[in-house]
Amino acid sequence: MPMSPQQVLCEECGYDLDALRDAAEACPECGEPLSASAPERRTGSPWQSGAGIRTWMRTLRRLLASPRTLFRELRIEARLSRRLLITNITLASLICTGAILAGGPYGLAARPTYAVEFFLIGIALLGFLSGIEIFGIRFFGRRRGWRTDLVIATTVCGHASYGWLVSAVLIAFVWQWQQWCRVLDQWASGWDSPVLPSQLTPFLLGLAFFVGMIVFETYVYLGFRACRFANRDASE
Ligand SMILES: [Zn+2]
Repeated sequence: MPMSPQQVLCEECGYDLDALRDAAEACPECGEPLSASAPERRTGSPWQSGAGIRTWMRTLRRLLASPRTLFRELRIEARLSRRLLITNITLASLICTGAILAGGPYGLAARPTYAVEFFLIGIALLGFLSGIEIFGIRFFGRRRGWRTDLVIATTVCGHASYGWLVSAVLIAFVWQWQQWCRVLDQWASGWDSPVLPSQLTPFLLGLAFFVGMIVFETYVYLGFRACRFANRDASE
């Protein structure tokens, strides 16, 4: 059954509410109050009221406090959500590049020429993975008969992209730790410094990336569920 984007569905079960809007108070299929599916209930995240540092912070706080509530209130739109995705991917890549450039005693001297490449590769990789996610949840949503189109998928993944910052911060931490441990080791040879065996570093960097990816995926999953029949304003 094809559904138009403006059609009002029960956000719980997907029942078409357009036909009975004034005649009932609850969804005849699942009993969810109609008010819970009203398009105007999706007032949007702070970021969706305007991109900026403050709204970025407030959206993050809302995501940490209650991701489900945030996803239930997202306005379904692609423009600002895409900008949030690009912002977070750029930030994540900047944090990693910064950590390597400022990377303890060896960083700046040893690797200035790789900084730009590293930064761009970070953006490309995270952009690629996020893009796959957007198309992936659209695909799985469609297969389940949900409403998940590209706009909903972009709204969800844009707000889940804070998860990539977890990857970035952990990678920066592992890198810095390893750099400073090398110095400590040189200064105090024989002293029992908390050195990371260097063979472990690639593994720890991979693990750091993976943990952030799990956070991203968890938010995507919560958003995917909360927006599977999301209604949008006629003006969108
Ligand atoms: Zn229902």
